Amino acid sequence: MSLIRRKVTKQIKVGDVKIGGEAPIAVQSMTNTDTRDVMATLNQINRLYEAGCEIVRCAVIDEEAAKALKIIKEKSPMPVIADIHFNHRLAILSIESGVDCVRINPGNIGSFDKVKEILKAAYEHEIPLRIGVNSGSLEKDLLDKYNGPTANAMVESAYRWVKKIEDANFTNMKVSIKSSDPLTTIECNEKISEFIDYPLHLGVTEAGSSREGVIKSVSALSVLLREGIGDTIRISLSEPPEKEIDVCYELLNALGLRKKKSIDFVSCPTCGRIEIDLIALVNELKKRLSNIKKPIKVAVMGCVVNAIGESKEADLAIAGGRHFGLIIKRGEKVKKVREEFLVDEFVKVVEKYAEEV
Ligand code: SF4
Repeated sequence: MSLIRRKVTKQIKVGDVKIGGEAPIAVQSMTNTDTRDVMATLNQINRLYEAGCEIVRCAVIDEEAAKALKIIKEKSPMPVIADIHFNHRLAILSIESGVDCVRINPGNIGSFDKVKEILKAAYEHEIPLRIGVNSGSLEKDLLDKYNGPTANAMVESAYRWVKKIEDANFTNMKVSIKSSDPLTTIECNEKISEFIDYPLHLGVTEAGSSREGVIKSVSALSVLLREGIGDTIRISLSEPPEKEIDVCYELLNALGLRKKKSIDFVSCPTCGRIEIDLIALVNELKKRLSNIKKPIKVAVMGCVVNAIGESKEADLAIAGGRHFGLIIKRGEKVKKVREEFLVDEFVKVVEKYAEEV
């Protein structure tokens, strides 16, 4: 469905989710509950799963959190990644708790001997590692060489770690280089993808909340995805993590890389020809149809000017008129409805269509 030719990377598995190779780009998020609070964390994991999340990451801040991952992993409907910073023992404990993958930034683990202990545990439990590099975990010699945490410094750091880990006979990994700057994120991932064939996890870190977070993330990720780079993504937002999933699917859907598991809305921006309250209509329809988990394309157009063309591309459409709307199914007119009844009537038509497909 997409014209994008993806780079074929080495495939790994996080639990039962394939990453890389020909696998669809996997959608991830991270819980923001205290991992030691098993109930709260599982509740959030379930909400993320309902929203379409495919892999979840949980922060491991101490031993209790690493041990809590045992129950979380057993009850989670999707694979669980332990997120480790600084303490290699927490990585090993999390692996012993049965997690499906561990994320480490080797640069902040302390020594390569400690990293090797993590590699050994991961190897024995047959799970992959996500090898992360970000500006905060860069080695001093690279900071000096490049005069700061530049894209080249991060790429060299990632490449160096990958080689060291390969030399220790461990190849079950994916790699992420994250920056809070979209252009640096693009440059880092373009470069590292030329040097290695491991799957890449994409994201703009600390992107911010709602509008700026979405724009920063999407501006970087859409460039990379269009170039065929990236095997799994997270949109990091300072928002409840469930919101991240919607944005991931909206982005992948827009690029033709995944189908959204909900209604794909097209609506016109309105103009002086409008004779119907289209903005209210679209908002109400989005609310009323949010429970439909089928990839149905719906076009809501203010007048016939663009409605004819759009309705041919959509499964169902509305073409606005003077206080009425024409309901159109696959390009064929179904009925003409007065504005005050339009939402109710259209919702009925969409619900019926959703049952048929
Ligand atoms: S569809 Fe009609 S109302 Fe909407 S922007 Fe186009 S011309 Fe204007």
